[in-house]
Amino acid sequence: MIPSVLPTYSRAPLRFTHGEGAWLVEADGRRFLDMGAGIAVNALGHAHPALVSALTEQAGKLWHVSNLYTIPEQEALADRLVAATFADTVFFTNSGTEACELAVKMARKYWHAKGHPEKTGIITFAGSFHGRSTAAIAAAGSPKMTDGFGPLMPGFIHVGWGDHDALHAAIDDHVGAILIEPIQGEGGIRTLPEACLKGLRTLCDEKGILLILDEVQCGMGRTGRLFAHEWAGVTPDIMMVAKGIGGGFPLGAVLATEAAAAGMTAGTHGSTYGGNPLACAVGLAVMDHLADADFLAEVRRKSALLVQWLESLVATHADVFEGVRGQGLMLGLKCLVPNTDVVAAGYDHGLITVPAADNVIRLLPPLTLTDEDIAEAAARLDRAATAASLKSKAPA
Ligand SMILES: *Cc1c(COP(=O)(O)O)cnc(C)c1O
Repeated sequence: MIPSVLPTYSRAPLRFTHGEGAWLVEADGRRFLDMGAGIAVNALGHAHPALVSALTEQAGKLWHVSNLYTIPEQEALADRLVAATFADTVFFTNSGTEACELAVKMARKYWHAKGHPEKTGIITFAGSFHGRSTAAIAAAGSPKMTDGFGPLMPGFIHVGWGDHDALHAAIDDHVGAILIEPIQGEGGIRTLPEACLKGLRTLCDEKGILLILDEVQCGMGRTGRLFAHEWAGVTPDIMMVAKGIGGGFPLGAVLATEAAAAGMTAGTHGSTYGGNPLACAVGLAVMDHLADADFLAEVRRKSALLVQWLESLVATHADVFEGVRGQGLMLGLKCLVPNTDVVAAGYDHGLITVPAADNVIRLLPPLTLTDEDIAEAAARLDRAATAASLKSKAPA
């Protein structure tokens, strides 16, 4: 019999009842160090007092009115994002997937409004992940996500990660944009080198096409800058944001330059919930912390500390781990044993990590974790690696 919850996930048998900072408590009382943060969502950890009070204060005033009216909290959050980034304008969504939908629509509308309705093509990359809508699965193009869901939305041109020749060959008169994650999350913490992001910007400028960055996972302070593209010193035309921006409250956004957003006039897009007062009140409190130079410097310092621990784990468990990758607190350990075995061994030792493609486990902790949390994570990962190693050597 089908479970009452549609069985599209194979879930771990863990039932968390509450959390505090980087820690989660299971129904049976066990404490887990959360190095997953709900897949890079709980940027300020669990039950952060500033977020709790932002949410409860707003909850007592007004939850929702719809976008038929002016929403002061939404305007304030948009102003904050515009002030802190390349963007001139922001549309709020409830998820990363919806941000992907709008990014695609915005790029097509841009060309349509410019008198080039034929420039519908968007180049995307192998191993990417942009969400689960029909457009987003067509964009990423992996058979695992698209199989059985056809016919797929046309217009996406897939090229290999790092395949410069294929990229150049793919650009013709029908291509209007390039869409890429500065660091692939689901794809296994694959970092686009700074020189490549700069190169993509130059290429888009030369060809007069739009650069769309998907910073749903790598944005909002995750890499030690507010947005990952800042490391390369270039800016996109359109950017997708979600995950960390709501700190656990469902919130996403599309940020764009005035030029890129030129086609998006009244009536061209909408959302009932997107940017409602509750979500934006929380988003403002998140921004208060993340958009702070000292906070981001702390993320970079903690990243260096964690990477040091991880490098030494790779050295002591050379039969389990191949290497460390990623940036800031978006880190991956490439595994030599099945990554899901390491994740499962982590559960046994009170540690939460997240598997990704390419046999990688992801470490995406709350950006607020402490130095003690980092040392504890390393100790638990050490025990988990020992267990995973023993399992891999046990006779079947
Ligand atoms: C998670 C993710 C998405 C989709 O976001 P949802 O909120 O799950 O819809 C899109 N792009 C990237 C890079 C992501 O990590």
